[in-house]
Amino acid sequence: MADPLRKAGELRVLAVAAECFPLIKTGGLADVVGALPGALAAEGIAVRTLLPGYPAVMAALRDAATVHSLAQLHGEPARVLAGRAAGLDLLVLDAPHLYARPGNPYGGPNGEWPDNGVRFAALAQVAAAIGHGAVRGYVPDIIQAHDWHAGLVPAYLHYDQRPRPATVMTIHNLAYQGQFPGDMLATLGLPPQAFTYDGVESYGAIGFLKAGIALADRVTTVSPSYAAEILTNEGSMGLGDLLNRRVSALSGILNGIDDTLWNPATDMHLASRFTATDLAARAPNKAALQARLGLDRDPGALLVGVVSRLTWQKGMDLLLAALPVLLRGGGQLAMLGSGDQDLERGFADAAGRHPGRVGAWIGYDEALAHRVQGGADAILVPSRFEPCGLTQLAALRYGAIPVVARVGGLADSVVDAGDANLASGAATGVHFAPVTQQQLEAALDRTLVLWREPWQWRRLQARAMGTDVGWTRAAQRYGKLFRDLVSSRARGDDRVPGLA
Ligand code: ADP
Repeated sequence: MADPLRKAGELRVLAVAAECFPLIKTGGLADVVGALPGALAAEGIAVRTLLPGYPAVMAALRDAATVHSLAQLHGEPARVLAGRAAGLDLLVLDAPHLYARPGNPYGGPNGEWPDNGVRFAALAQVAAAIGHGAVRGYVPDIIQAHDWHAGLVPAYLHYDQRPRPATVMTIHNLAYQGQFPGDMLATLGLPPQAFTYDGVESYGAIGFLKAGIALADRVTTVSPSYAAEILTNEGSMGLGDLLNRRVSALSGILNGIDDTLWNPATDMHLASRFTATDLAARAPNKAALQARLGLDRDPGALLVGVVSRLTWQKGMDLLLAALPVLLRGGGQLAMLGSGDQDLERGFADAAGRHPGRVGAWIGYDEALAHRVQGGADAILVPSRFEPCGLTQLAALRYGAIPVVARVGGLADSVVDAGDANLASGAATGVHFAPVTQQQLEAALDRTLVLWREPWQWRRLQARAMGTDVGWTRAAQRYGKLFRDLVSSRARGDDRVPGLA
């Protein structure tokens, strides 16, 4: 379909996601979906992002026009609005019966919404319809499906005989697969032949992410190490056979962070802005953070920060267990997080038991996240697995030394302060492996030793702050992947690689 509005050489990508910063966010997925379009624009790739019309998205949408109407979508009328918000080009699925609800994208006060299968299948169905030309004057070359919420996009396109855009399934976290009962097949508008190992069936259920992995032209994940880990028994979360079959279509591209949003030289959340050549200006941020979290105002104590969901994945139970080692070494903990009740209680108790040494802020607070990054001396990320991780990238940029488990994107983005890396000046943080309490304790001890050598610490900070954590490199890699994919399909090679 020729399109007079298309610029020469421009590639059109429709991103489909459940979250997008700054409109709606529960985790790193939103950061990536919000930042990638801007970075890809520099590569000649025009991204539009299809989001569910949650109240927060509807409220932010500007210059909205209806570009597609559906007489009914799972029982009620719906429409697609085109508009802009937060500098992003959006398509918004306005379906109040599915999305006009309070709470986060996935649930309300009483837990997850029981109709999440339908809610996100609807998003994917509409994305597929747009891929087939439902919006006049706009046909994407590629649809990029982010995480399980968009996992059915490749399936709807695959089981339709019409020509279709290319598809890319991007895995931000394999642990969340979106499994729904097999008897929903017809409700979700999938044909009976889709319920196979090569299709949407996953352990007797319908697996949204599994379907995307099976049926997309390319599968990406958010770091090279995680791409390797998900091929192993331990890391594959039950999808190892499939992922190994699709290995020729699989690649890992390390995320970046928005380095204008996360910039210590301009960050208005900070008490004092600073640069790598003016680290003295960092000190007031530490004092402000200590005051905010009720910690002793002690410039000499190693202040370890955490900004995290409180879950098993993030190794937060290990941190609670290893806390005595940090405190014995004179350190302090500044913890910002929310999640599992046991862990929330554990950190609140620890703060009660160690007043002035452990500060815990249970909740979600974007401004405080910046203040922890700008005020803590180190940022701890003891994840059992971590597809990419964004907090260690912000930590590098803010000169808070990342202390990380050697897994996934943490291993790919932080250079361990082993003897050789210290000697060469390449080190930017501290690694530990395997992810056990004992190794975490050893890492905290190593960090305390480094802290006691101020010149060594400053060297680590300078190198960390010089690390390129922006999106440019990742955007170039996505750009190449997208262009290669479109060319290979233009050559007629549009087999889904790895499928029988
Ligand atoms: P995940 O997506 O698995 O939670 P990431 O490290 O990829 O982990 O991304 C987490 C994002 O959410 C980061 O931008 C981090 O700053 C932010 N974040 C996590 N917990 C909180 C919190 N309690 N308050 C503010 N921001 C948070």
